[in-house]
Amino acid sequence: MKKKTKFNAALEKLNQVPWKTATCAEGKKCWCRCILPKDKILFDKSEVYIIHAGVLYEIQAEHIVKLHNESLIKKGNRQIKDKQLDDSFEEYKEYEKLIRKNKV
Ligand SMILES: [Zn+2]
Repeated sequence: MKKKTKFNAALEKLNQVPWKTATCAEGKKCWCRCILPKDKILFDKSEVYIIHAGVLYEIQAEHIVKLHNESLIKKGNRQIKDKQLDDSFEEYKEYEKLIRKNKV
């Protein structure tokens, strides 16, 4: 397996954390918005951004952040559901053993 570089690991982490939009140095009057993780991710002492200034309009930036953050919530719910399925499968196996022993 190809060894992950630290930078790739930082990029991967970026996809797993919530994002936010931020204004550029010109503030709210500017048309653009940056996208960055809600909590800073540093690489080589500099902050890792998703979209830098001067690229994305505010409305699109907000939209992308919303979709990304919603996808994290959905993913979280799915993981919980998978765990519940595993648990009920374990219970089922126990039940099956009891049936075999004619105890149910
Ligand atoms: Zn700007």
